[in-house]
Amino acid sequence: MFFYDAHCHVMNLRHPNLSAVINRYLGESSRCSRLKIGLVLLLSSLPFAKNLLLKITNADDRLKNLLAIMETPLGDGLLQMEEDLKKRLWDNGIFIPGNPSAYEKLFLVPLLIDFAKRGFENRDSKMIYSVRWKPMADQVRDVCLGIADYYRYKSFQKESPLFEIHPFMGLNPLIYNLDPDNAADNTLTLKQVLDKYFLEFNALQSSHDRRQLILDYDWTTFYGDINTLSKNAFLGIKVYPPTGFNPWPMNKQEEEAMKPYQGLDKLNTFYSYCVGKNIPITAHCSNGGFLSDAAFTDYANPVRWKSALDHYPDLRLNLAHFGYDDNDKSCMLQLFAEDSWRRTAADLACRYDNVYVDISYRGVDPAYYVELNELLISLTDSQQKKLLDKIIFGSDFMINLMSIDSYSEYMKKFQDSPLNTEMKDRLCRNNPERFLHIVDY
Ligand SMILES: [Zn+2]
Repeated sequence: MFFYDAHCHVMNLRHPNLSAVINRYLGESSRCSRLKIGLVLLLSSLPFAKNLLLKITNADDRLKNLLAIMETPLGDGLLQMEEDLKKRLWDNGIFIPGNPSAYEKLFLVPLLIDFAKRGFENRDSKMIYSVRWKPMADQVRDVCLGIADYYRYKSFQKESPLFEIHPFMGLNPLIYNLDPDNAADNTLTLKQVLDKYFLEFNALQSSHDRRQLILDYDWTTFYGDINTLSKNAFLGIKVYPPTGFNPWPMNKQEEEAMKPYQGLDKLNTFYSYCVGKNIPITAHCSNGGFLSDAAFTDYANPVRWKSALDHYPDLRLNLAHFGYDDNDKSCMLQLFAEDSWRRTAADLACRYDNVYVDISYRGVDPAYYVELNELLISLTDSQQKKLLDKIIFGSDFMINLMSIDSYSEYMKKFQDSPLNTEMKDRLCRNNPERFLHIVDY
């Protein structure tokens, strides 16, 4: 029996589009702290800048914490996550208050993110240089090597690992070619890249078989050559609209704009592949995040998935962050009466069997659980009651270190929340297992 964190990240400083990271802060910070944060992020990869960095960040332990976990090798990052949990929360096994049985392991789903925006450069930008691509191969190698290192270390120490780790591949289907002849630069086509990681998945696979396929993979056999990666190393796909992935065109104008690069054909290829092989997709669904171009602001809007689901109702989809819009300051209790991103996300989750929402990052604030609990117990409509079976626990670690001190603190807030034991168990076990298609209920 696993406890699932179905939305976390294992990445280092060279993976994110740092310009986009800075942009995110630009919107939220004063000019002075903008410069400070920008400097920190830009210099953090240079060894000689260490002392300077320490001085600048002295006032902000959280930022130092985040930088440290992103700078240390990824395998060590996982070990430190485990140490923190064991030291501060789960020294005697993984428990939920009120539930006598312990969870055997923490099932981590680190989501890779494709930060590239190949072909989508902002031509109006005054900048001379820009981040034009970030090869996913680097991130795949680094993350997989980090996971392998973690398991090798545990095995060397003869300790049983606390984590069961199965990542999601990060993919922006719109930046791949459809036709091999157009791939002048030797890049893989969309179909080739999907086959590279998901060839062994198929729609007829029972959740039991899928689980076996996943659990069978021995990470310690991986030493960094991604061509030797097993076809069952990844459990699903993460899409990240703020870096240029439009889940579905919303009008004729958008459809026309997609034509030159066969956008709609690519979306159709991608969704039919995922439905055809029953691959879970997690979509960033919040107006925050690493926005790489102002033009992509609305791409994370869950209303776009409404259109995609009209065409692909069987899509296995998780709308992350429960469709969070930071302009929405009202209490969640009136969810089904309001017109908001989270309402759209909740409606889709209640309407489609395979659609879920996760609460990653939102749990940094204990008040969120109070509202969620009140909302869930107030639901009387049988259709809306389905929502309880559709909410997935997630942390958004390490990104969540911008608002919280440690992984254990995030977990503790969930444990201590007013949700009752059965609700917690659904969020951290049954619901993610159904979404991931690895256990039948
Ligand atoms: Zn995330």
